[in-house]
Amino acid sequence: MANQSGPWSSVDRADCIIVGGGVVGLAVARRFASAGLETLVLEREAVHGSHTSSRNSEVIHAGLYYPPGSLKARLCVSGREQLYRYCDDRGVPYRRCGKLIVATSEEERGTLQGYLEAARRNGVTDVAWRTAAEVAAIEPAVRCTAALCSPSTGILDSHAFMQALLGDLEASGGSLACRAEVVGASLGRGSHRLLVQQGATGIELEARLLVNAAGLDAPSVARRLEGLAAATIPPRHLAKGHYFTLQGRAPFRHLVYPVASSAGLGIHVTLDLGGQARFGPDVEWVTAVDYSSDESRRDAFAEAIRRYYPALDAGRLQPAYTGIRPKISGPGEPAADFCIQGTEGHGWEGLVNLYGIESPGLTAALAIADEVAARLGVPRGHG
Ligand SMILES: Cc1cc2nc3c(=O)[nH]c(=O)nc-3n(C[C@H](O)[C@H](O)[C@H](O)COP(=O)(O)OP(=O)(O)OC[C@H]3O[C@@H](n4cnc5c(N)ncnc54)[C@H](O)[C@@H]3O)c2cc1C
Repeated sequence: MANQSGPWSSVDRADCIIVGGGVVGLAVARRFASAGLETLVLEREAVHGSHTSSRNSEVIHAGLYYPPGSLKARLCVSGREQLYRYCDDRGVPYRRCGKLIVATSEEERGTLQGYLEAARRNGVTDVAWRTAAEVAAIEPAVRCTAALCSPSTGILDSHAFMQALLGDLEASGGSLACRAEVVGASLGRGSHRLLVQQGATGIELEARLLVNAAGLDAPSVARRLEGLAAATIPPRHLAKGHYFTLQGRAPFRHLVYPVASSAGLGIHVTLDLGGQARFGPDVEWVTAVDYSSDESRRDAFAEAIRRYYPALDAGRLQPAYTGIRPKISGPGEPAADFCIQGTEGHGWEGLVNLYGIESPGLTAALAIADEVAARLGVPRGHG
């Protein structure tokens, strides 16, 4: 065994190793540790949650859009309820502010009808129609021909959520190692061996259970797993989204969404817990992870936003941040479901790969953790 360093240096064998300390990796690790398993999260960056988990809309989705029967639908609906309870129990800041999805034409009204039917089939029974006059009464700045109102949509502090998950993990004896990049692995019958780079030091670790929760890099981590058939690894597609904040007082009390586009939910209004409005994300297919903002998108944003917020002063739009959707379907292809790939998908015991965990992955994180635990036969613990 090579030299080890860091707070996890005593570990050369764990019951389970999670690759990736984003919200999903932390939720899975918390779930495993609460079942009494010795659990270690390996995170490449200096700080957990530095990628998609801190570059999103922080919306607790109700589960309206996803095809009935899909993992996205099922895990969003069950994850959302778990998440609200978890936020209450652990003091994670959130607000059940509700959301309006607005139609600005007759054709879009038909799309909303489709959302309503999908919502009901997904078990989301509190979504209701609002007339243009009803919307004007609650959101005077918004123009639409009709809307759906989703009262169980909310917003949360995603950093506080991840901090709470990490606290639970550590309280159950698990740990997170940062600046620890998984650079290679060999799969085995009974246990898997990982090669981890921490600074100049290479470390070998062994675990019975291995979960690849590397987000944008899940396909490239999978390619490093010696023994895993390449044909089981989906392609990686990256869809970048920009956000602009609205300077000054927000003219909205609810989240306001247009009808969804093919690769995203449309440039919508979200509110942060401080009440500031931000717009986004748009969709730009890219080939590399680059989080720089592109100010030249302001005009395109203004045009999209004015369809439902005609009084927008584009001078108040300030570039904020970007995020990148970890997609496994490309431009023009139908949206893929979450891919939670266990033995049936790749032939190895004790391994789950998580691919394409885009939205609503934040909402669904606790339910994804249960699903991964079920695939690996991990019993329910105390958490
Ligand atoms: C623009 C945008 C908006 C979104 N809005 C919402 C929303 O409002 N509501 C919602 O529910 N969901 C939303 N999502 C989805 C949600 O953010 C993601 O599903 C979720 O954050 C995914 O978490 P993760 O842990 O899988 O990935 P990540 O947060 O990306 O974590 C993966 C981690 O793996 C680490 N890693 C990678 N390779 C290695 C390696 N070799 N060794 C060790 N570590 C490694 C990375 O450093 C990273 O920290 C949005 C996503 C995007 C992009």
